[in-house]
Amino acid sequence: MKPIYVTKPSLPEFNSYVEEIRELWDSRYITNMGIKHKNLEIELKSFLGTKGLTLFTNGHLALESSIQVLGLTGEVITTPFTFASTTQAIIRKGLTPVFCDIQEDNFTIDSQKIESLITEKTSAIMPVHIYGNICNVEAIQKIADKYDLKVIYDGAQAFGVKYKGGSIAGFGDVTMYSFHATKVFNTIEGGACTYQDLSMEKSFNGDKNYGITGQESVESIGGNAKMSEFQAAMGLCNLRNISENIKKRKIRYERYLSQLEHFDHVKVQTFSKYIESNYAYLPIVCNSETLRNTIKLKLSNNQIYSRKYFYPLTKDYECYEGKFASVKTPVATKSSNCVLVLPLYPELSLEDIDRICDLIKSC
Ligand SMILES: *Cc1c(COP(=O)(O)O)cnc(C)c1O
Repeated sequence: MKPIYVTKPSLPEFNSYVEEIRELWDSRYITNMGIKHKNLEIELKSFLGTKGLTLFTNGHLALESSIQVLGLTGEVITTPFTFASTTQAIIRKGLTPVFCDIQEDNFTIDSQKIESLITEKTSAIMPVHIYGNICNVEAIQKIADKYDLKVIYDGAQAFGVKYKGGSIAGFGDVTMYSFHATKVFNTIEGGACTYQDLSMEKSFNGDKNYGITGQESVESIGGNAKMSEFQAAMGLCNLRNISENIKKRKIRYERYLSQLEHFDHVKVQTFSKYIESNYAYLPIVCNSETLRNTIKLKLSNNQIYSRKYFYPLTKDYECYEGKFASVKTPVATKSSNCVLVLPLYPELSLEDIDRICDLIKSC
C-alpha cells in the first residue's frame, strides 16, 4: 500500500497549466507583476470579496509586510498555538510577542483574555484563524476600537472560509492568506494581504518591490517579495477547481466525523453554525497525550503520517528561551499536547479514511 501523508498538494490537469504558461514563452515577461499576476489579483479580489488585495511570493512575507505597512511598534498580542511564521514575523520585525491563551472549542485566541494583556506598549493584536475556524472577530474588533489597536489576522489557513454567509477578508485592518503548496488553495509558494482601506495599496506594492514607484523613483524602503508569473499562472489554474476541492474536503471531513463521533477517546473539531469552513485540516483532540502519541505511532507503523500540529507551542521554541515573559496558557498547552492532525485532501479515498479510523479505534 502507498504511504498516506497528512496532505497532498492540489494540482490542475497538466495540460491546463501548460496552456496557461504558453504565452510567457513568447512575451518573456515572467515576473515583475505581469499579466498573470494582474489577472490573479482581479480574480482573487472577486473570489475573496475584498476591495484591496496584494499578492506576495509567500504568506510569511505578506505578514511581515503587513506589520511594516501598519507601522506597528512595541508589543503585539498573539497566540502561541500557531505555525512558526506568525510569531517569527512579529519578532523579525523587531516587536515583542505577548502570548494569549486560546479557546478550547476552536483553538483560536480567547478574546476574553486579551484585555488583561494590553499595556501602553501594545500596538496590535495578531490572531490566527486556525484550521479553517474563525476567531471571535466581533469581540476582537471591540477591544481594538476601545484601545485604538490595529488587528492583523493570520488567515493562512482560512482561504474561502465564510462567516455568517460573508467574506472574512474584511475583518481587522489586514488579513494574510498563504498559498503554500500544502494549503487549500496554492500557487506553489505564495500569499496575499487583503485590506479595505485602499490607501494601503501603494505601501504594500512598495514594500514588496524595493520601494520602486517609477524608473527613476524609489519612495520607500522596501524589499523583494514579488510573486512570479509561474506562481500566478498556477493560482489561476487552481482557482478554477477550488469550489470542487472544498466540496471534496467536506465529504472527507464528514466521513471522519461519522466514524469517530461515537468514539469517546478522541474529539473531532466541529464548526459553529455561522462558519462555512474550507476543511483545511482534520485535527482530533485525544483525551491524553499518551493516547495521542500511541495513535500517531500506530498510524505511522501503517505508513499513514499524521502531524502534531501545533506542538510545540511557538512560545516554547528553543530560540526564544529566556527572551519573552513567560505567560501561562493552560488551554493552549493542553491542546498542543493532545492534538493530532490526520490526513485530509481532496484525493484521499473514503476507504482510506475508514482504515485510518479503524486504526485509531484499535488504540
Ligand atoms: C502556512 C502558514 C503560514 C505561512 O505561510 P507561507 O505561505 O508558508 O509563508 C503562516 N501562518 C500559518 C498559521 C500557516 O499555516
